[in-house]
Amino acid sequence: MTRIAIVGCKRIQDQLCIACEKCLKAVNKKEGEFARYEDDIELVALGNCGDCPGLIMPKLTLMGEIARSIDMDYDVIHLGTCIVKAKKTGQCPLDFDRIKNLVKENWSKEVVVGTHNY
Ligand code: SF4
Ligand code: SF4
Repeated sequence: MTRIAIVGCKRIQDQLCIACEKCLKAVNKKEGEFARYEDDIELVALGNCGDCPGLIMPKLTLMGEIARSIDMDYDVIHLGTCIVKAKKTGQCPLDFDRIKNLVKENWSKEVVVGTHNY
């Protein structure tokens, strides 16, 4: 069993991509970036990045603290397709490689860039 957290763009989540239905579908059907998992997956957190100009690390710290406090820590963090779009088409300041390295150093977790392809 792999436990997953999804982090989305605060400016897009539930504003332009409504109710996170696309990511929930992809998780439940193991499609898009979730097709990589051979074992069962469980979505245990679905939150946002903490807003511009890039408050994702303090947000991930809080997410992790809460997950551990309720014994639901996760193995992998997916950055939502909304974040990928914000980076490609907007002015999102997030540096994916830096986030990956910081998450690895601080919590020994993997970061996957992307979620669904819908
Ligand atoms: S890409 Fe995923 S996390 Fe981002 S807003 Fe859409 S459904 Fe939610
Ligand atoms: S930092 Fe990037 S992902 Fe977060 S709200 Fe701003 S544009 Fe969206």
